[in-house]
Amino acid sequence: KPSIVWFRDDLRVADNPALRAAVDDGSAVALYVLDEESPGIRPHGGAARWWLHHSLTALGEDLAALGIPLLLRRGDAASVLRKTTTALGAGALYWNRRYGAAERTVDAGIKSWAGEAGLHVASFQASLLHEPWEVTTKTGGQYKVFTPFWRTVSAQDFREPLAVPEKGHGFTGALPAHDQLESWHLVPSKPDWSGGLAESWTPGSAAGHKVLASFVAGGLSNYSEGRNRPDTEGSSRLSPYLRWGELSPFEVWHALGSKRSESAGIFASELGWREFCWHQYFHNPNLATANLRPEFDRFPWAWPGSAGSNGQHPGHETAPEELRAWQMGNTGFPMVDAGQRQLWHSGWMHNRVRMVAASFLVKNLGIHWQLGEQWFWDTLVDADPASNPANWQWVAGSGADASPFFRIFNPEAQRVKFDPQGKYIAHWIPEFGTPDYPEEIVDLKTTRAEALEAYKGMREVH
Ligand code: FAD
Repeated sequence: KPSIVWFRDDLRVADNPALRAAVDDGSAVALYVLDEESPGIRPHGGAARWWLHHSLTALGEDLAALGIPLLLRRGDAASVLRKTTTALGAGALYWNRRYGAAERTVDAGIKSWAGEAGLHVASFQASLLHEPWEVTTKTGGQYKVFTPFWRTVSAQDFREPLAVPEKGHGFTGALPAHDQLESWHLVPSKPDWSGGLAESWTPGSAAGHKVLASFVAGGLSNYSEGRNRPDTEGSSRLSPYLRWGELSPFEVWHALGSKRSESAGIFASELGWREFCWHQYFHNPNLATANLRPEFDRFPWAWPGSAGSNGQHPGHETAPEELRAWQMGNTGFPMVDAGQRQLWHSGWMHNRVRMVAASFLVKNLGIHWQLGEQWFWDTLVDADPASNPANWQWVAGSGADASPFFRIFNPEAQRVKFDPQGKYIAHWIPEFGTPDYPEEIVDLKTTRAEALEAYKGMREVH
C-alpha cells in the first residue's frame, strides 16, 4: 500500500520529516492541493501564485529524481484527500504541520476521518523551530514581547536537518486522475506582468540552497551593518524560500554554524522574528483583520472609498488617490516610491524600506494598515500569513511588542541615512530629480502632527 505525503508550505525534499516517513514505508506518493475552498483559507495573492507555480515545478522535478510521483489536485482539501487515498488504496498519510486556525481545522478533520478509516496518520514539526504551543511564559501564557520569547526559544538546541531520502521508494503503480499545473493558471497572462519577478528570482529548493550558501560565505559577516542598507545586497533574500518551505529554518539555523559572530547572532534573531510572528498568529488567528491592541479600534484611520464616514485625521482628508499613489510609488517621497517600485517590479522590498513605506501609509497618509497589508499580500513573493500582518501591526503600533505609534519614520531622514549615495533611489526612480518625478502628495510635518493628534485623541477616550 502506498503512503501519501501531503505537501503544503514545505515544498522541499531535504529536511522533510513527512516525506521521510512516507519513504520509510517503502512506497511514497506526493500530493499538493490547491485549496481555495475550505472556509477561512486566505487565497494567495498574485505574486505568491507566480512563485507557487514555479516552486511546484521545481518540487515535481526534485521528487521525480527520487522516483516519487507528484499529484496535483485542486479543491477542498478534505474531499481531495478522501478521493485520493481511496483511489490509491493508500495505507498511510503524512504531513508537516501548519499553524493557521483555518488550516488546523481542516487538518484535524482529515486526521479524524483518516484515523477512523484505518489509515495510519502522522504529522511532523518542520516549518518552525519551535511549536507555538510549547513555548509559554512562566505563568503558562503567550509571549507578547520578543526578547524574552527569543531568549527562551533560542536556548534550545534544534535538531539537525534530515538528508534527502534515497532513491527507489516511490510508488510505481497506476496513478489516479490529477491536474496539470498549467490548468491552475497561477502565472499571469494577458497581461503577463511577471517579467520582473522572473528576472529577480529563481524559485525552488535548489536555488534556495544556493542563496543560503552564498549568503553564509559572503553577506553574513557584515549583516549587522549591511541589513539596513537597501542600496547593497546586505540581507539574505531568503524570505520567499522560507515562506514556501523550500528551505527549512533548521537548515538555515545549522548553516550558521555553532560558533557565531555578532552578525550571525543578529541574523539568527531575525529567524526569531519569523518564529515570533507565527507565535502571534497561532494565538491570534485574526491577526490580519483585528488590532492586537483593541484601543486602536478607535484610531481614525481612513478606509479610502468610505472617506468621510470612517473618520480621517483631523484636518487631513485622505483621498482614494493617495492609496493608489502609494501603491504605484508616486508619492513624491523617493524612499517610499523606490520601495514600492521595487516591490511592484520584483515582488520583494528591503526590510528597512518596508518599514518606511508602511509608516508613511499609516501615519502620514492616515490610511488603515489593513489596506497596506492587503497590498503587500498581493504583491510580495514572500507574502506570509503571519509575518505580513504581524509586521504591519508592529509599524502601526497596534501589535504585540510594537513600535510605539509616536515614533514616526521620516522618509527623507531615512533616505539620507540608509541610501547615502542615492544609489537605491537612482536605480528604482530613474526620473528622480527631473520634472517628471511627482510632487510630494502631503506635507510631512503637518501630517505627522495630525497623526500624533489623532493618537492622543484615541488615548484620551475611555
Ligand atoms: P534577512 O534580513 O536576511 O532576514 C532573514 C530571514 O529572517 C528573512 O528571510 C525572514 O524569514 C526572517 N525575518 C527577517 N525580518 C523579519 C521580520 N521583521 N519579521 C518576520 N520575519 C523576519 N517577511 C516575510 O517573510 N513575509 C512578509 O509577508 C513580510 N511582510 C512584512 C511587512 C512589513 C510592513 C514589514 C515591515 C516587514 C515584513 N516582513 C515580511 C519582514 C521582513 O521585511 C522580511 O522578512 C525581509 O525583508 C526579507 O528579506 P531577507 O530575506 O533578505 O531578510
